[in-house]
Amino acid sequence: MTRAVVTRSPQPPQLTVKQAATQAARLRQASPTLAAAYAQALSRWLDDPVLRLAGRPIITECYRSPARQDELYAQGRTKPGPIVTYKRGGESRHNLGPPTPALDVGFLLADGSVLWSGLLLSKFARLMKAADARVVWGGDWASFKDRPHFEVLKAAEPAGKGGDERG
Ligand SMILES: [Zn+2]
Repeated sequence: MTRAVVTRSPQPPQLTVKQAATQAARLRQASPTLAAAYAQALSRWLDDPVLRLAGRPIITECYRSPARQDELYAQGRTKPGPIVTYKRGGESRHNLGPPTPALDVGFLLADGSVLWSGLLLSKFARLMKAADARVVWGGDWASFKDRPHFEVLKAAEPAGKGGDERG
C-alpha cells in the first residue's frame, strides 16, 4: 500500500483583519433571512475539510447604490467589458435597503485572489438553499445565469407584506 507523502498540511485561505471587517459590514447590510442563511452556509463550508481548502466564501457585494447599478448596466453596452447585469439602477434587489435582500458571493484563494468558480458556487448554493429554502440562487435562472447571486423575495422577510417581484 502506498501513501502520498504530505510535506505540509495545506492551509485554508484566511481573511485579513481588514477583509474580516469588510465581510462583517457587508453581512450587516443583508436582510435577516439572507444573512442567517449565509452565516449557516459559510459555517458548513468552513467545517468541511475539502471545501474549506478550495476557497473561502466572501460576500463581494450586498447593497449597491442605484448609481453604481447604472454603471454596471453600462458595462457591455455603452462601456467596455462583459454584460454583468440586466437591471438598471433601482431595478435590482441589490438596490433595496439596507437591509438588502441580495448578495453576491466569490471565493478568496490562499494567494489573495478572488475566484468566481461555477463549480464552487453551485456547491455553495446547495448549502444556502439547505440553510433556508426561500433563498433563490441566480444560477438557477433560465434566462441569465447569475451564479454569484443570491436573493430572497420580499415575502420571505419578517417585515414582508407579500409581493414577490424579483429585482
Ligand atoms: Zn447579485
